[in-house]
Amino acid sequence: MIKAVRGMNDILPDKTPLWQRLESSARVVLLSYGYEEIRLPILEQTALFERSIGETTDIVEKEMYTFTDRNGDSLSLRPEGTAGAVRAVLQHNLHNQAQRLWYMGPMFRRERPQKGRYRQFYQIGAEAFGMPGPDIDAELIVLTRRLWRLLGLRGLRLEINSLGTATTRAQFRHDLVSYFSASAEKLDEDSRRRIQSNPLRILDSKNPELQELIQGAPTFERYVDQESEQHFRQLREILEHNDIEYDVNPRLVRGLDYYGKTVFEWLTTELGAQGAVCGGGRYDGLVEHFGGEPTPAVGFAIGMDRLIELLRETPLNDMARGGNEPHLYLIVGGAKYYGSALRVAESVREAMPQIRLVTHCGSDSFKSQFKRADKSGARIALLLGEDEISQGLITVKHLRISSGQVTVAQSDLAAYLQKEFASL
Ligand code: AMP
Repeated sequence: MIKAVRGMNDILPDKTPLWQRLESSARVVLLSYGYEEIRLPILEQTALFERSIGETTDIVEKEMYTFTDRNGDSLSLRPEGTAGAVRAVLQHNLHNQAQRLWYMGPMFRRERPQKGRYRQFYQIGAEAFGMPGPDIDAELIVLTRRLWRLLGLRGLRLEINSLGTATTRAQFRHDLVSYFSASAEKLDEDSRRRIQSNPLRILDSKNPELQELIQGAPTFERYVDQESEQHFRQLREILEHNDIEYDVNPRLVRGLDYYGKTVFEWLTTELGAQGAVCGGGRYDGLVEHFGGEPTPAVGFAIGMDRLIELLRETPLNDMARGGNEPHLYLIVGGAKYYGSALRVAESVREAMPQIRLVTHCGSDSFKSQFKRADKSGARIALLLGEDEISQGLITVKHLRISSGQVTVAQSDLAAYLQKEFASL
């Protein structure tokens, strides 16, 4: 049997209502802050990711699904959304004015699959272009908090940090190289390789044996320039003014190369090792790096798979799961009546576009059709048998209350149902 690719999961109907709830809540929140949707391709030129995420990051070095197209182009499945958003903004000249954009969809990284870490996973991302101040950084954080609230999620913790500017980071980097070079023999192979290529990433290492060495490394605070310092101070003031609790984590660097100034992450303790549910930050240099006008930019990405795990635990979940059952289940007395059954069903759908009506397909006994009707969760079963057809009637049976059944003229059915489901 052919199975799904490892780390790429089917989302089955018992889970999709939860996904739909997350998606619709996110749409409501993003729209309410004036963010507009942008839909981007899933495949891009490999060079886009190499140049934006950074050639020495884990993602580009070993996690991308890359292949050569028939014409020789190197293409990759997108491992994240920011690079594509920047490309689109530049390609269509959207960066000349302030832009608030969002997107939602699958991302691909060839990581080792485990709970909360998949090879195809889903993100909701927002990117704001053209706004340099801490006000927009704070807006993005407040927006995510509003989403957690709307979803009924509690207990998420915010960490923030400032990565300074390219110049201060260069000094910091220089000192990190010296520090780690002096203790190279204590590092693991991955980190040793990174001393020169990407020493900041060593700080991100999860290897417990390196933690002591990492704790002793220089921290960025000592290098921060005045402008970044002020930006960070203002951001903290805005957050405090809005009762947003946070911890400053000087070790928060995030995996991607292009971040500067603000970085932030929302974390939970409820998902074991994969505790980050949202990561974001400022990447003021990236648009220019791709040949555009210097354009400040800041964004975040929410890990939807992890949020779904959290949502499974909330009481609201039952409501979401209960939302999809049909209102009506149509029982049909045999193959002779298939045509009439479909006609009746279509007339109901025509009159009530919101109604969920399932027609029983297949010539099963009335008894087994009623069983299916009951199991479907429908409130009302409609029955079309020989007697009904010959007289232009239809039998209506309430399945959840014991008020028996009534027979109505087929021509009156829609009016009858409109009364029964007045709230639709
Ligand atoms: P990143 O772009 O790595 O900062 O990721 C942003 C968010 O996406 C993280 O905080 C996670 O919630 C989620 N995420 C990243 N990688 C994965 C993965 N392999 N599987 C599931 N979720 C992921």
